[in-house]
Amino acid sequence: MKNMSAPRVYCGSLREGDIGQRVSVCGWVARNRDLGALIFIDVRDREGIVQCVFDRSINDELAEKAFALRAEYTVRITGTVRMRSAINDKIPTGKIEIVAEELELYSASETPPFEISDDVNVNDALRLKYRYLDLRRPSLQKTLAIRHRVAKITRDYFDENGFFEIETPILTKSTPEGARDYLVPSRVHPGKFYALPQSPQQYKQLLMLSGFDRYFQIARCFRDEDLRADRQPEFTQIDLEMSFINEDDIMSIQEGFMKRVFKDILNVDVQTPFLRMPWQEAMDRFGSDKPDMRFGFELKDISDIVKDCGFGVFSGPVAEGGSVRLINIEGGAAAFPRKKIDKLGDFAKTYHAKGLAWTRLHEGAVTSSYAKFLTEEENAAILERAGAKDGDLVLIVGDAKNEIVWAALGALRCEVAKQMDLIDPMDFKFLWVTEFPMFEYSEEDGRYYAMHHPFTAPMVEDEDKILTDKASCRARAYDIVLNGTELGGGSIRINTPEMQEKAFRALGISDEDIQERFGHLVNAFKYGAPPHGGLAYGLDRLCMLMAGATSIRDVIAFPKVQNASDLMMACPDVVDQKQLDDLCIACTKTEE
Ligand code: ASP
Repeated sequence: MKNMSAPRVYCGSLREGDIGQRVSVCGWVARNRDLGALIFIDVRDREGIVQCVFDRSINDELAEKAFALRAEYTVRITGTVRMRSAINDKIPTGKIEIVAEELELYSASETPPFEISDDVNVNDALRLKYRYLDLRRPSLQKTLAIRHRVAKITRDYFDENGFFEIETPILTKSTPEGARDYLVPSRVHPGKFYALPQSPQQYKQLLMLSGFDRYFQIARCFRDEDLRADRQPEFTQIDLEMSFINEDDIMSIQEGFMKRVFKDILNVDVQTPFLRMPWQEAMDRFGSDKPDMRFGFELKDISDIVKDCGFGVFSGPVAEGGSVRLINIEGGAAAFPRKKIDKLGDFAKTYHAKGLAWTRLHEGAVTSSYAKFLTEEENAAILERAGAKDGDLVLIVGDAKNEIVWAALGALRCEVAKQMDLIDPMDFKFLWVTEFPMFEYSEEDGRYYAMHHPFTAPMVEDEDKILTDKASCRARAYDIVLNGTELGGGSIRINTPEMQEKAFRALGISDEDIQERFGHLVNAFKYGAPPHGGLAYGLDRLCMLMAGATSIRDVIAFPKVQNASDLMMACPDVVDQKQLDDLCIACTKTEE
């Protein structure tokens, strides 16, 4: 048989140590250069690119065949590896080349709609329409390889720690209290619907009741939400649950997992245990429940200093129950001249701040947007609280709503750090945020929602507040945060029917709805429920951070776009009338 003596190797795997070997490479033509006597064909596969050289003086017929190759033709080239005369140190195979002896053309290619390269700027819609070509790009080959590694390590690590991988249904029951469900009509039960799972939450809790005390799953989840940059309608969680444990047990298992993933994939040593910080402290110090811990610029409350000042922009918010806070950008004065500060003001407004007050201490001169409205003592007290010195820039936001102050300053500290180039992407700073509020109030709906989900246990010392003081009731919930991104979250769960019913009632769910929607869970708790808790990671986000990608689309083979459609498959799509009839469905509105 042909090529028997030449094993197939990956293009990108060849190195100096292979010199003298006879090998075959299979892949796609990345480039064809005709230098007259020599023809160079670069062949690409998932591991990289290698140069193959065809010498007319040795085999003119073969060289002529190579000359006819075009970009993206699929080929097999067999030859002997040799040292290159002109070394290319930009690619890992740049020291060697293959002197071609055989060429097999598997299939030709039309001119692709865009060049397969990481360096060309191509419109996203076009890329996604031809995602199978887009995926040939080296960066996407790399990110999907990382994703595979993460999944493999997940299975190994949790197996080694006694976890069972158990699948849970995709066709399940719609329950309120989450995001909007994707619904699947039932043909057998006209007028009834399954929902696709937003997460395996209830199933994994039920598995704890069944005695599988350590469960994990790489689970596909679905949420019909308006999409933002880092959201997809379907996404993947590393989902797990444990029985007979407390927060410390769960956290130490996760810390071991992160250590392993980061070491094996990026060769980064993650320091454990991770820092833990109550939610309130995270908000007060960083204005965020997922603070980036790689830089400072912590928030400071100056409400006490300005509450009685003559400047309504500061005293007003305090009087209305809000606050005025600042961040001191150390060394920021030079980086932010007046015009750039104005841009920061516009940025703060996107977080609903009414404005941005500032003081710039630059080369001995102090300029300020607000100093003239305050007394000398008040100004001095603010700068002292800020710890500001020459060279610094103080940014202040006040609002009747603390949430706006936190959001604006929290985002500003990250934006400023980014603009000042203070963020090292290879510095991985983990953090547990704990003691989340149990409930959050929606002004729009005029009611409380569970901040995590309705199965989360209240903190023991706050159990009495669940019905009487919702605003200050804290939950046994925790998030694992990495560099300003929430990697995952979970909680210790409620495990008695009484407490679960109380939690539903606190959310305003009627007794009837509790039975109808969550009866299975409440009833299950009547049959001996172990103390349990768990967590779910966003696998896509984790891979995104590890791959240094900027969008979760880059770590999902076939992602959807902003309006939830798949441009390659062209879906969602209309279906035959017969299919609708089978489901007893009549559409009241259709897209043009
Ligand atoms: N199911 C939860 C979520 O998707 C995670 C958990 O509580 O385990 O956020």
